Amino acid sequence: MTNTRRFRDFVRSFTRLVETQGESEEIVLRDGGKLLGDLIAHDEWLPEDCAKPHPQYYQQYLLHCDPLERFSVVSFVWGPGQKTPVHDHTVWGMVGVMRGAELCRRFRPGSPMEATEQQRLEPGSVDLLSPAEGDIHEVTNAFEDRVSISIHVYGGNIGAVERHVFDATTGAAKPFVSGYSSPFLPNFWDRSAEVRASMASRTT
Ligand code: FE
Repeated sequence: MTNTRRFRDFVRSFTRLVETQGESEEIVLRDGGKLLGDLIAHDEWLPEDCAKPHPQYYQQYLLHCDPLERFSVVSFVWGPGQKTPVHDHTVWGMVGVMRGAELCRRFRPGSPMEATEQQRLEPGSVDLLSPAEGDIHEVTNAFEDRVSISIHVYGGNIGAVERHVFDATTGAAKPFVSGYSSPFLPNFWDRSAEVRASMASRTT
């Protein structure tokens, strides 16, 4: 059964963090990274519908968007061997691996672009991205034969942010907007069962 409370608690804590420390990207990344680390250390809260791979494309399911668009939370579902293009974000970001593993390679602008070694992210690890420090990367499912899932948090409504994909050979940037894979949000907010249980316990 899905533990929806865990995700509600995460959203509450993250909302408080951006409310009180939103001016400091450094603090949001540091403390928010810990909140994300706690969330992905448990794997009993992600709804089935947001864990489904697509045979051709990696999936980006929006789980929550702050009403003031200060942050969004997205479930990335990677089919076997699926990968992103080289891309930037233009807002801060954090990537927490929950199932499987991912390979991440960073790039610096140039022609050709300068690439780092691939870094392997195992379940429970959180990678932080800051546009000020360079936030161009490429992410790949580390597995050719199974699905990987990571939970990402961004400093904006990421599916609607104007950003870029890059040709690593020439360094040419092309504008893009990623969008989301589903027109629906999962319902983490149906607490009726616990309220009914507490009503029943009061009447006995
Ligand atoms: Fe990314």
